[in-house]
Amino acid sequence: MHTTTHTLIIGGGFAGATVAQTLEKSNIATTLIDRKDYFEVTMATLRNVADFEKVQNSPRIHYSDFLTGAFIQGNVSELTETTAVLENGDTVSFEQAIIATGSSYPSFSVAKSNQAFSLEARNEEIKTASQALAKATSVLVIGAGAVGVELAGDIAYSHPNIKVTLADAAETILASYSAKTQRKATEQLKALGVNIETNRLYQEQDGVYVDKNTGDQLNVDMTYVAIGVKANSDFMKPKLNDALTERGFIKVDDHFQVQGTTSLWAIGDVADLKDLKLAATAIPQGNELAANLIAKQQGKKTKAHKPMAEMGLIPIGQKNGVAQIPLFGTVTWKRLIDFKNKDLLIGYVFKGLGIK
Ligand SMILES: Cc1cc2nc3c(=O)[nH]c(=O)nc-3n(C[C@H](O)[C@H](O)[C@H](O)COP(=O)(O)OP(=O)(O)OC[C@H]3O[C@@H](n4cnc5c(N)ncnc54)[C@H](O)[C@@H]3O)c2cc1C
Repeated sequence: MHTTTHTLIIGGGFAGATVAQTLEKSNIATTLIDRKDYFEVTMATLRNVADFEKVQNSPRIHYSDFLTGAFIQGNVSELTETTAVLENGDTVSFEQAIIATGSSYPSFSVAKSNQAFSLEARNEEIKTASQALAKATSVLVIGAGAVGVELAGDIAYSHPNIKVTLADAAETILASYSAKTQRKATEQLKALGVNIETNRLYQEQDGVYVDKNTGDQLNVDMTYVAIGVKANSDFMKPKLNDALTERGFIKVDDHFQVQGTTSLWAIGDVADLKDLKLAATAIPQGNELAANLIAKQQGKKTKAHKPMAEMGLIPIGQKNGVAQIPLFGTVTWKRLIDFKNKDLLIGYVFKGLGIK
């Protein structure tokens, strides 16, 4: 089947859904393609697994229940400057396309699913993962970035009977954060009983985890590998490979325009921007790009993107957490931490997308 659209948006995560909804408000006709049929608030998935009853299926909603523009479920396998080809052979031609295909964890489907492309399948995947966790007595979380730290804290809070080990190859947890953030997070994790092991390179050998540095062994019921984030950009390789960095991120200028093209833009995790790879940066990027495309259509001036200041707000269990914010540095303000812990920002994100 062949479809045509004015503006094609590939990927309906935070960046893609935001730009789609904003353009539609200005009467720019959009078609959003995603390989799954639902939008998911990623920051709620970890607690969804650690405490299913608390979160249930609230982070997810069908695109068809809120998108104002057209939606196609499909996996883009090849892109040119005028046409997207889907895995099933269908094609979509466009005047302009926005690439917002984000990133994935190849071995950590709980965080962002690599196989559950229907809402029902994803609800089931999370529930099954939650039930499996409830049966465990020991868990290893590999990777002590923000995601690994949050997961370890959430499991320890909701399952005090599970022995949680958080391991990282670096000398410290949260290596890209300030020393104070690392210290506060360490204190809070330890208070929940999390065993932190740094300078560890655990690798699986016949069902046991062996530290490559020392040969020490760890036997656990379950392991979560929260490392190895990959850009979702394979569809660029056949015709637009020059626009990719070595690690597969899409090269863009300060207006998000894809290098060497006139009809393509890229935002969010998949774009090679200086901003941290966060929903908190993907959403403003979506708004900025929409404003520029609207301004361009109206013959008005467009604005260059300036990288956003570094930030982070990491829940540690359901009552605590640590934030690193511009001007104030590391803080543990209760109201700020509670704002996130209340519903993992589901209400905030949904409101921004016009979801009631
Ligand atoms: C567990 C976890 C917790 C997090 N917590 C926070 C947090 O608290 N705060 C924060 O700001 N950030 C957080 N992040 C980071 C945040 O989720 C990402 O930065 C954000 O998802 C990026 O948004 P995006 O729109 O660029 O891409 P994504 O959210 O990755 O969305 C990309 C979309 O593209 C689709 N897609 C991919 N390839 C194709 C294709 N070939 N064809 C069609 N569709 C495709 C995918 O199905 C997906 O829907 C967290 C991430 C994880 C994993």
